[in-house]
Amino acid sequence: MGNLLELQQKINYDKTFDCVQCGYCLPACPTYETMERETHSPRGRINLVKMVAEEKASIEDLKDPIEKCLGCMACTTVCPTNVQYGQILEGAKEIIEENKSKGSLHKKAEDFLFQAFFPSSKWMQRLGEATWFYQRTGVQRLAQLMKITDVSPLHLGVFEKVIPPQPSPKIRKQRVERYMRKRPAKAKAAFFTGCIMDGVFFDTNQNTIELLLRSGLEVILPKQQTCCGALHAHSGKVDESRELAKRNIVAFQDEEVDYIINNAGGCGARLVEYHHLFEEGTEWYERAVEFQKKVKDISEVLVEVDGLTFPHAVHQTITYQPSCHMTNVQKVKSPPLELLKKVPGLTFKELKRPDFCCGSAGIYNIVNHEESMDILDVKMNDVCSVAPDQVVTTNPGCLLQMKVGIEREGKTKEMSAVHLVDLLMEAEPSGKE
Ligand code: SF4
Ligand code: SF4
Repeated sequence: MGNLLELQQKINYDKTFDCVQCGYCLPACPTYETMERETHSPRGRINLVKMVAEEKASIEDLKDPIEKCLGCMACTTVCPTNVQYGQILEGAKEIIEENKSKGSLHKKAEDFLFQAFFPSSKWMQRLGEATWFYQRTGVQRLAQLMKITDVSPLHLGVFEKVIPPQPSPKIRKQRVERYMRKRPAKAKAAFFTGCIMDGVFFDTNQNTIELLLRSGLEVILPKQQTCCGALHAHSGKVDESRELAKRNIVAFQDEEVDYIINNAGGCGARLVEYHHLFEEGTEWYERAVEFQKKVKDISEVLVEVDGLTFPHAVHQTITYQPSCHMTNVQKVKSPPLELLKKVPGLTFKELKRPDFCCGSAGIYNIVNHEESMDILDVKMNDVCSVAPDQVVTTNPGCLLQMKVGIEREGKTKEMSAVHLVDLLMEAEPSGKE
């Protein structure tokens, strides 16, 4: 590590003074609730960052509390002094990342994943195609019968069970870059397809395009778009995240559009915060601000455009698990609920604690699996007390996590989890022309 001043700047030492130690954030923090340690609370983490910046604690002391933070930002919604916890967290992660041993196998594998795998739409499509092959050829059945999936690394067997059936490579190839309308369009939208959404939830992405078209919008999928960089930033790889932000800003600003639409709460939260990656007053900062003004979740646009009717009743009891990033960072709260109210036949039951994170948090449920499952168990207690037919979510990570939770509870016959977009399509929406 360079000099102390450099460390203090990177770790956002100045921002730690906004914390007045009141503790209002403690009841909002899932990791404080499940781990019952001050160091694993927002206040404790901020204190540790401050102590590292004052050389009273080591970066090693910071590692576990920071790595066990979900980044759900529930603490920021209750903080009376508006502490910029997100920036403090990102700075701490960057410092931890810089101190990792560069030659280790773990680091090399991680670098490959973040530099080559996630930013590549080709790799994501290959992942979807390989999963299709695995599901369709009987390999999955064999692997499950032989219990190979039970011993797969990184708990991947847990997630393998809940990945939805994949479309064939032929269907994937039928996608086009521009979806035009015969009649004049109400607005022009560019769709941010995401990595995991496009790899694993390709059908949901196609349903998103369909909803926009039926609402009267023209939809384009900028070819040069890439990963939003959220996973990179959450892992302390801020430089890589910044490069991806630049690539997306260029890809989307090359098109004259009214909206930049996403259907993944975690990605959307990153897209609206791109300007934090650049110094205020620079050209990239200004471009990021312009970019961010057009970023919308699909639910916001569907409500704003108000172009759909839902003629087909869906007779189900549902509950809604909001994405933390969509609620706490994008501040999108009511649009999904407004859309659900329009679907005839639905009975809505609210969770007791909808704002409590499900424990998915990017790749938290893979790298901190046990801790994530403890948090999921709290969430599932709430879900089971509501006993819905479907749990509606708006983020791929939350969707997979809710599916895992339903499996863990042995409730797969009684309930399932669904993306909002797919549920809306069940109501056979048509355009208000
Ligand atoms: S609520 Fe805000 S000011 Fe109070 S302890 Fe938590 S972070 Fe600090
Ligand atoms: S981001 Fe979430 S897990 Fe992390 S300190 Fe805040 S409330 Fe706790």
